[in-house]
Amino acid sequence: MRGPPMKRLYEPMAYDTEAPIGSWWEDSGVEPLDFPAAKGDITTEVAIIGGGYTGLNAALQLREEHGLECVLLEAAQPGWGASGRNGGFACLGGAVMSTKTQIKRFGLDATKAHMAAQMASIERVADNLVRYNIDADTHSKGELLLAHRPDKYAGMQHEARFYRDTFGIGFSEIPKDQLAAHGASGPEFHGGIISKAGFALNPLKYSLGLARAAQKAGARLFGGSTVTAIAKEGAGFILTTGTATIRAKKLIIATNGYSADDLPNALGGRFLPLLSTIMVTRPITEDEQTAQGWATDLMAYDSRHLLHYFRLMPDGRFLFGQRGAVTATPAATKAAQQTSRRDFERMFPAWRHIKTDYNWAGLLCLTRNLHQFAGPIPTLQGAFAALGYHGNGVAMASYAGRAVADIAMGKPVDLPPIMARPLNRFPLPALRRWAIRGAYVKYQLQDRFF
Ligand SMILES: Cc1cc2nc3c(=O)[nH]c(=O)nc-3n(C[C@H](O)[C@H](O)[C@H](O)COP(=O)(O)OP(=O)(O)OC[C@H]3O[C@@H](n4cnc5c(N)ncnc54)[C@H](O)[C@@H]3O)c2cc1C
Repeated sequence: MRGPPMKRLYEPMAYDTEAPIGSWWEDSGVEPLDFPAAKGDITTEVAIIGGGYTGLNAALQLREEHGLECVLLEAAQPGWGASGRNGGFACLGGAVMSTKTQIKRFGLDATKAHMAAQMASIERVADNLVRYNIDADTHSKGELLLAHRPDKYAGMQHEARFYRDTFGIGFSEIPKDQLAAHGASGPEFHGGIISKAGFALNPLKYSLGLARAAQKAGARLFGGSTVTAIAKEGAGFILTTGTATIRAKKLIIATNGYSADDLPNALGGRFLPLLSTIMVTRPITEDEQTAQGWATDLMAYDSRHLLHYFRLMPDGRFLFGQRGAVTATPAATKAAQQTSRRDFERMFPAWRHIKTDYNWAGLLCLTRNLHQFAGPIPTLQGAFAALGYHGNGVAMASYAGRAVADIAMGKPVDLPPIMARPLNRFPLPALRRWAIRGAYVKYQLQDRFF
């Protein structure tokens, strides 16, 4: 359903819930959801806006741990946003602030707590899959980081040892001449390190499984229900959709990259959505994999700031993702897809003849703090939010969704202090898109020369 315009950063195309997404996940044997629109007057304890991993995990936590009534309102159907269309890397991450900067600014203990939360978030996904009996085509034991230039490998080895010694995370090192033996060679790969943490999954199967589990647990889920206004009523809230008025004592905002600056105003200018684009090829045969020297099922990414992420999936299709367009228009989308295809052919030259079957894009979310957030919205009593996973939200949003539900209920939570820091506002929020352009130019130069 197309809702009334809200104050959002991108062109309407990025938020159009009626336009086809075009992802491989939709064709991967999933049974689509069909939650009805909210209608009439509804009263509940907690209203959740957004039906991705954050909102769904919050709903599950509210039902399972707190036995509370909750209503989840989703503009399309649960999983429509980034959660149902991402690369499916359940891995460490959630911040772009380096661990060394975190140690300098917040201390070693806080940084260790942040890393422990990232490890716990991967466990959370694994636990969800088992607990709700979700078959999400998992594969890949850990994650492979590849040096995109010869001079990057030594720095990566150093970093891996630092992670191992400081946080106890296991890594193995693969010099360039051993990449072929790992089925991970290519002209732009100059050595790699494998982190023992994380695995890959089908993100839409995970989303839909969570939605069905939340419904089974007693949460009331509504699709086609864009919240267009939030008003305070005493200590609680009144939310408006095109067809319903929802009264709730507490509110959880779980809209991440699809957030609007005026929903609520208190979050305005404190997040920066970015487009990421993904292509998926036809299945690649074993002979073709051998010809390219790429046969590993490890999820992988390269050492660029503007990184590529890729993985050979269980059916032989190859997923290849990277930063997307700066504007959500058909022409910019097409140009981003062409760039992606060009990079794919350069990095995997023996696969130049292999057709792209699927191309799509979606919005992830950065913050000025450079790390994720879960907690109360400072100037809006009774309202809470979890967002800003910096393109690493499969695991982290699953963790933060549970945490924000506990925080809303006043339950003591083992949330790392870094994630509890209130979100700072971007200095000139209206210029955020120009800042993206500037950053992309800077990072392109760094990736090439420094
Ligand atoms: C192309 C792409 C690739 C990615 N790859 C990876 C990856 O491999 N690994 C990884 O860890 N992370 C990845 N990410 C990031 C990850 O997908 C997100 O961090 C995560 O899904 C965020 O979950 P969420 O529930 O917070 O938000 P979302 O899943 O984006 O859900 C937000 C929902 O809120 C709804 N909404 C917004 N406004 C309203 C409103 N007013 N009323 C009702 N509903 C509303 C939207 O319709 C949307 O469904 C990727 C993201 C993208 C876009």
